[in-house]
Amino acid sequence: MSQVRSWIKEMTLEEKVRLLSGADFWSTVSVERLGIPSIVVGDGPHGVRKPTGETDAIGLSDSVPATCFPTGSALAATWNPQLIEGVGQALGKEARFHNIDLLLGPAINIKRSPLCGRNFEYYSEDPYLTKKLASSYIEGVQSQGVGTSIKHYVANNQEHRRMSINAEVELRPLNEIYLEAFKEPIQLARPWSVMCGYNMVNGDLLSENKVLLKDVLREQWGFDGFVVSDWGAVNDRVKGIQSGMDLEMPGCGGLNDTAIYQAIKSGELDEASIDASVASILSGIVRAIEGRKHSNFVDTEGHHTLARQVAEEGIVLLKNENGLLPLAKTAKIAIIGQMAKAPRYQGGGSSRVHPTQVDTVYDSLCNKLGQSNISYASGYNLKSDHLAPDDLDTALRTAKQAEYAILFVGLPDHYESEGFDRLHMKLPPSHNQLVKEISKLQPNTIVVLNNGSPVEMPWVQDVGAILEGYLTGQASGSAMANILVGDVSPSGKLAETFPIRLEHNPSHLFFPGVKDYLKYGEGIYVGYRYYDTKFLEVLFPFGHGLSYSAFEYEGLRVINNKEEETLKVSFSIKNIGKRLASEVAQLYIQPIDTLIDQPYQMLKGFKKISIKPGEAVSLQIDLTYKDFAYFDSTRENWHVETATYGIAIGSSSRDMRLQTQIELTGDRVDRPLFHENSLVGDILECPDVKGVLLDFLAGVMKAEDKGQDVNPEMAAAMMKYMPLRALKYFSESPVTQNRLKSLLKALNKSL
Ligand code: BGC
Repeated sequence: MSQVRSWIKEMTLEEKVRLLSGADFWSTVSVERLGIPSIVVGDGPHGVRKPTGETDAIGLSDSVPATCFPTGSALAATWNPQLIEGVGQALGKEARFHNIDLLLGPAINIKRSPLCGRNFEYYSEDPYLTKKLASSYIEGVQSQGVGTSIKHYVANNQEHRRMSINAEVELRPLNEIYLEAFKEPIQLARPWSVMCGYNMVNGDLLSENKVLLKDVLREQWGFDGFVVSDWGAVNDRVKGIQSGMDLEMPGCGGLNDTAIYQAIKSGELDEASIDASVASILSGIVRAIEGRKHSNFVDTEGHHTLARQVAEEGIVLLKNENGLLPLAKTAKIAIIGQMAKAPRYQGGGSSRVHPTQVDTVYDSLCNKLGQSNISYASGYNLKSDHLAPDDLDTALRTAKQAEYAILFVGLPDHYESEGFDRLHMKLPPSHNQLVKEISKLQPNTIVVLNNGSPVEMPWVQDVGAILEGYLTGQASGSAMANILVGDVSPSGKLAETFPIRLEHNPSHLFFPGVKDYLKYGEGIYVGYRYYDTKFLEVLFPFGHGLSYSAFEYEGLRVINNKEEETLKVSFSIKNIGKRLASEVAQLYIQPIDTLIDQPYQMLKGFKKISIKPGEAVSLQIDLTYKDFAYFDSTRENWHVETATYGIAIGSSSRDMRLQTQIELTGDRVDRPLFHENSLVGDILECPDVKGVLLDFLAGVMKAEDKGQDVNPEMAAAMMKYMPLRALKYFSESPVTQNRLKSLLKALNKSL
């Protein structure tokens, strides 16, 4: 950008240093002399948060009214990238309207533990789903001339000691799970900015982590925007600049400027590093100037309607015995639970939005079914964990007199929020008790949950239907009413596993670490990658979500184009029910005869499609061989293993409808020279020389004279862990030094 270059040429050192940290909580420094404007940033991620008036000490003061869209968990449960792009566009428009140049989102950290306090903001336990949805969000927002700052880069998967914890993550999970969620959005959707997390990864704070900020982000991925610190994440500013951490937020009031001048003076920091960071920030400013040309009209009602559509698609029907739902429009229903009138539709902390309006499910159901068909009891009190006997009595009486009891329960605000993690996965005891007691006397009990992350459900067998309502934003109430009465068929699918109990979660033995030490001991086995490999029973699996209709899958076909290294997977889905409904078809790959440690299955494609009753649609999902790659930590690179893989198409990760297998020829691996201490098993893993060794073994292990029939494959299997030098002790014919030498020569011939 020539503008950036010419500004840098004219800026004084002082002006450059000042630009490296914010002017205040929400804006960058301007350089009026050169016409460099200040740009304004704002939270994010599921609504615009522009503080009104003076900012309080931690920047969480009230904000201007803006549409509160469903939070990350619910957005992800839509499995609908187009819809999320639409949310991004609406957010971009609202940000533009409020003169915000850069929205602090999407927040996409992987849900390693169900306990992370910010899981409600995040998308999924799976990097594939996360990266697809994050890219759509970024494209949507940025199409409106507003930038995004994808956050919190990276392995920032808990709130406990979030500013000091050191996440120790081995290279393979770091690349396959945690970085993987960020890579594609950064490379393809190109956010203007990346927000570095508060935490340390492998010994270095992210605000001064050269490996992750420079080597990975800029050099390997080609990121050309600016890195902004999470608010208050800066420790050693000089080390930060050397590591590629460009903009410190909020502003430090000049405190760190002195350290920078001193480092320049002593030669510790060169001006080139300063220029690199200044250039990155200026490139964001240039984009913002351009972006300000976009129109700033906001259709507030239209955005509320969009918020409702997204909420409808993010609600997940977990259970529906004997078609209990949808409710008949003449049904007499008891609405139980304070959350029906005082909804919890978003989370706490920096993402909190001041909504333009809020629909309650109580009002919405009264409108749809008529006030006379509805009775209400508050049940619990949101401020207490215990049921008052009088409240319970009233709730039981109300539930008994109606045809259906719908219980609105969930996690109150103080159970989950930014800033702390949950201590357990349970609902308040009062909510659980209410469900238990009511389900004993009302056979048509329906539970509606409002929570940002999984909860245990000790009453799962006792109730007829369960809807996961997540935190579905300001239109959550009307969206839920539409689902309950069947105006819309549910189509949400879980983007995370609901384990039966917390202890089953793979991170359980390690979470939340000891003081500042946190080992990601479960490695690549995050979420369903663990539960499915262990064949562990779960409460509700990844990808699960029922519909009021039913779908039939057929005609799986895979075309393997070996030259182009691509696969075309096609199949069709028929709506065999009576309602217009959407289905999310999910494609998993399953490594079969693999020689490496691999999860049972991994999501590598999905399609959401709305289908009319009786209609069949053909779908195609394209894969490339790269989708089969794993991160080989010994070689520090991605590698596709030659193996047999299952291709499974499911309606959830545990409900496979179509399956086949393919043989895939992977990359040739550069291997080291073999020597006398090389293991027989390791050599046999190399397809190009396997035959050489098998022939040799057949020769030296020959046992015709004893009349035994020794199968060379069997002999080789027994000797898997034997170094070549030890063959001489077990062979029939002598393995002399010369024979060994010629074997090694033959094995290493191609190198
Ligand atoms: C949060 C960020 C947020 C920032 C500004 C931080 O505490 O971690 O997600 O964007 O504050 O509010």
